Amino acid sequence: MPRVIDLRSDTVTRPTPGMREAMARAEVGDDLMGDDPTTRVLEEASAARIGKEAGLFVPSGTMGNLVALLTHCVERGDEAIAGSESHICNHEGMGSSALGGIPVRVAQNDVRGYMEPAELKALARPWPRTVLACIENTHNRCGGAALTATEMRDMTRAAHDAGLRVHVDGARIFNAAAALETEPATLVADADTVQFCFSKGLGAPIGSILLGPRVFIDRARLIRRMVGGSMRQSGVVAAAALYALDHHVERLPDDHASARRLAAAVAEMPHVRMDPAGTDTNIVFFDLIGVDGPEFRKRLAAEGVLCSGTSPSRIRMVTHLDVSAADIEDAIPLIARVLDGLPPA
Ligand SMILES: *Cc1c(COP(=O)(O)O)cnc(C)c1O
Repeated sequence: MPRVIDLRSDTVTRPTPGMREAMARAEVGDDLMGDDPTTRVLEEASAARIGKEAGLFVPSGTMGNLVALLTHCVERGDEAIAGSESHICNHEGMGSSALGGIPVRVAQNDVRGYMEPAELKALARPWPRTVLACIENTHNRCGGAALTATEMRDMTRAAHDAGLRVHVDGARIFNAAAALETEPATLVADADTVQFCFSKGLGAPIGSILLGPRVFIDRARLIRRMVGGSMRQSGVVAAAALYALDHHVERLPDDHASARRLAAAVAEMPHVRMDPAGTDTNIVFFDLIGVDGPEFRKRLAAEGVLCSGTSPSRIRMVTHLDVSAADIEDAIPLIARVLDGLPPA
């Protein structure tokens, strides 16, 4: 069977042999009792890397954001603001509202996921009390856009000026930093709390981390327990996350180069509408015009190339650790051939 080039998401990566070895060797204990040394090291190393006081290992990015909102919004009726295209508003089941009774108000995202500082200020109100603004970087649904340190600072300052705290959904903050040739700590320097994922571009199998002031993280630890996210010998997966921090950050520019190469090639193909200059990181989005998107995905899958989509005509391809530059060169003619053979929709 020919091998599959899986561009559905950067979450499909398998742990490498080196990562498996680190997992096998991990020192472990009951983390809920505070006994897991590997998880402790991961929490401290992540906090230091991002420039925050303390960290809390959580099973997923969705839980990291949920625990953040539940910890920030303490009083009944306290509300948060998130972007119209944010992961929080579109892909997390509105958990903070459903489970925590927290209203989430929507600020308009521009095409890169940026929110106008003036709009953030205008949305903040004393009652119901707006307490939090959530900022996403890189911006998933906005094509993996990397928001600059200046953009991050402008949004964060506006929120702070309006008396809000700021949480960064930085699921792919290391991709943003790599694209901008800066440190993730620089991008979130002014933010109060940050969540990032080990299970996306960093290539670990499981896990995210929530970072912030120690008093905040102490309370978040209790909230994590409330939502069922406390773990026992979590060092087995924390070891994979530590391995990813040590070995997989430097290679992120390779994924970005692959994504740019893919975008440049696809932009030239028939039935495709896209701006190849919009590919900042590892996510490539394009629209299909006049042909059937689901049929395209089906035929491409039959050729061994998997992709996803956010609507029938909007296609998403993501590069990652398990897709080489050579795989991209193999995928490009297959994509062209499938597009060429599609009947008009
Ligand atoms: C993937 C993602 C999350 C959630 O992470 P899971 O581990 O899939 O729950 C949150 N925010 C953004 C921007 C993401 O891309």
